[in-house]
Amino acid sequence: MVALAVSTPAAIDVRDLCKDYQLASNVVHALRGVSLRVMPGEFVAVMGPSGSGKSTFMNLIGCLDRPSSGTYLLDGVDVTRLRPNQLAALRGSKLGFIFQGFNLLPRMDALENVMLPMVYGGVSGSERNERAHAALQAVGLVDRANHRPNELSGGQQQRVAIARSLVNAPSVILADEPTGNLDSRTSIEIMGILQTLNQAGATIVLVTHEPDIAGYCSRRVAFKDGLVVSDEPNRQIVSAARVMATWPPQDAESAA
Ligand code: ADP
Repeated sequence: MVALAVSTPAAIDVRDLCKDYQLASNVVHALRGVSLRVMPGEFVAVMGPSGSGKSTFMNLIGCLDRPSSGTYLLDGVDVTRLRPNQLAALRGSKLGFIFQGFNLLPRMDALENVMLPMVYGGVSGSERNERAHAALQAVGLVDRANHRPNELSGGQQQRVAIARSLVNAPSVILADEPTGNLDSRTSIEIMGILQTLNQAGATIVLVTHEPDIAGYCSRRVAFKDGLVVSDEPNRQIVSAARVMATWPPQDAESAA
């Protein structure tokens, strides 16, 4: 019998991605030929100095903008050929987003915020409710389901946002500086939740300028001047659960 090799498509497969911005009479080459494959189950940190092209890259892989040239396959689908409505549908079903500023709607409670991405997905009311509860459970926040964002701490708000990113079972979660507005302890808690989700199979691409935060990821990709200048597996992944178990760190204690 002949065994057929079945290859899993990359979650994200970009080749020679370029993005130019026209500024008055100048052209800014924000991305100058980026090629990157992210396989299902990876947890990738995207790093690099300000202006290196990280946001431009995230906007492109988040289907929020189109490249000037190059190709992008999201879960095997050629994104660059899609019409705007097809792109929006793909974004809603295949991508989950987590932002530095949480981006929750203030008049809605946690459960309603988590249900939002399902509004356009043709999901029945009872299933929406069930899936949103399960997502809140996954981030340990079921008991806050009926609280509005202003009744929650920053870490809790980010957990609601993580739950919201999960409800459509996306192929990839894109996190843009998710710990940028949080204190050190809460940042590690959030990284612990992302590590747990990743261990359960979630694919995550996370932008950070903090090496400590990148230490929790399994692969580190660095941008500079619109190019990927390094791309390496992290052979010493830090366990957030372990760091939390011995919190606060010794040196912080003696400094206090
Ligand atoms: P990073 O996220 O790493 O700080 P960006 O992707 O925001 O980098 O920016 C990359 C380059 O593209 C920078 O030189 C920036 O000034 C430029 N840039 C980003 N967005 C725009 C825009 N909308 N119009 C013009 N230039 C832009």
